[in-house]
Amino acid sequence: MASLSRALRVAAACPRWSPARGLGLRPPTRAASPTAEKSVPYQQTLKDAQDPSAVARGPSRPLPSTANVVVIGGGSLGCQTLYHLAKLGVSGAVLLERERLTSGTTWHTAGLLWQLRPSDVEVELLAHTRRVVSRELEEETGLHTGWIQNGGLFIASNRQRLDEYKRLMSLGKAYGVESHVLSPAETKALYPLMNVDDLYGTLHVPHDGTVDPAGTCTALARAATARGAQVIENCPVTGIRVRTDDFGARRVTAVETEHGSIQTPCVVNCAGVWASAVGRMAGVKVPLVAMHHAYVVTERIEGIQNMPNVRDHDASVYLRLQGDALSVGGYEANPIFWEEVSDKFAFGLFDLDWDVFTQHIEGAINRVPVLEKTGIKSTVCGPESFTPDHKPLMGEAPELRGFFLGCGFNSAAGVLLVTLNSHLSLLSVCLLFK
Ligand SMILES: Cc1cc2nc3c(=O)[nH]c(=O)nc-3n(C[C@H](O)[C@H](O)[C@H](O)COP(=O)(O)OP(=O)(O)OC[C@H]3O[C@@H](n4cnc5c(N)ncnc54)[C@H](O)[C@@H]3O)c2cc1C
Repeated sequence: MASLSRALRVAAACPRWSPARGLGLRPPTRAASPTAEKSVPYQQTLKDAQDPSAVARGPSRPLPSTANVVVIGGGSLGCQTLYHLAKLGVSGAVLLERERLTSGTTWHTAGLLWQLRPSDVEVELLAHTRRVVSRELEEETGLHTGWIQNGGLFIASNRQRLDEYKRLMSLGKAYGVESHVLSPAETKALYPLMNVDDLYGTLHVPHDGTVDPAGTCTALARAATARGAQVIENCPVTGIRVRTDDFGARRVTAVETEHGSIQTPCVVNCAGVWASAVGRMAGVKVPLVAMHHAYVVTERIEGIQNMPNVRDHDASVYLRLQGDALSVGGYEANPIFWEEVSDKFAFGLFDLDWDVFTQHIEGAINRVPVLEKTGIKSTVCGPESFTPDHKPLMGEAPELRGFFLGCGFNSAAGVLLVTLNSHLSLLSVCLLFK
């Protein structure tokens, strides 16, 4: 069995080695072509539930001829946008998904939600996200979203980081987010498997947790449709029609699909890594790049059950509780770009490149030493969009009236329910005066 420590040792000695070889899996490559089928840590994905003839049959329901808003893309962002539009009272909102809901990036997200960030706007937005996912959606639909409240633990291995966490705690107090600065001994009592020898302290946020992407999107779609919105799957958007008005401004007039067109004054581009391609259909530049982003799932770890998720900012590593195992991931310093984004990619993953991933292993093993002897059950490497300033792209595109962006989430989609409210109010205003 491949273990994290073996991966680290051998990768250092031989950069092209992969623990996948030890497992008899295909060796990783740097090629950006998607893996057709892959072992993932879920018993069943939405793909399994899909009727194979569905795509061939065309859209999951007939297209309306007009809509007040068309949301393009049925991932986390698209479903949240549709839900919030419906909740804001916008009638005639339609979501068009090329394949099935969540089939892009969302289905395999790690789903970590940390409430405390160094910005009061983000703290408020995250609190809103958490409220919707953990309580409101379930009250509205009767569906459990799969939210797990196992808490979050930020690691401070230097004094400056601990000072930063103390400031976060103060900010949290102002916004009603409970958090506690713990000493190394208190951290050890909370998380016995953790190495605390090099710690100055930690920040424990008991109401942080983990979002289940499939459960959340199902509940969002159910709540939105119950309020009159429509979700249409198996319906790729192929074009955006635009006109120039009497004042010389370019405006959206319709969305074209393989199965007909919908007249609309408003489009929200929630197409994830495909958002640039959708933007091009409308002559709008969407400044994001698609990159491979990954985590690995370990074998069972005795004593890990019910532990909080861990974020070590200095080591750029996170440890997410995954049942009785951990998912180990982080931000790649030398990422692989997905240069030619394929429009056929659905419920897909890439082979993990161990040269890129190895940087996370040392920090993970230092923090939870039992990982050194723990096997790797599976790897999850998918596409994610990143923007130049690491902030999402939200709001109306300056070059086209009625064309809104909801994309570029830099692996922090949790923030999004959130930021939406600001641009959705704009959108509502636009509908009011259309
Ligand atoms: C390995 C990994 C771990 C992650 N971990 C976290 C985490 O812990 N916390 C966190 O907050 N975020 C995390 N993220 C990021 C998060 O998963 C993404 O930011 C989020 O899922 C993106 O959602 P989206 O709706 O923007 O895109 P997507 O989920 O990709 O949705 C876009 C949808 O648009 C559809 N589409 C594309 N083109 C068209 C078209 N022409 N017509 C119709 N539909 C179209 C696609 O089929 C797709 O379903 C992680 C990402 C990865 C890869």
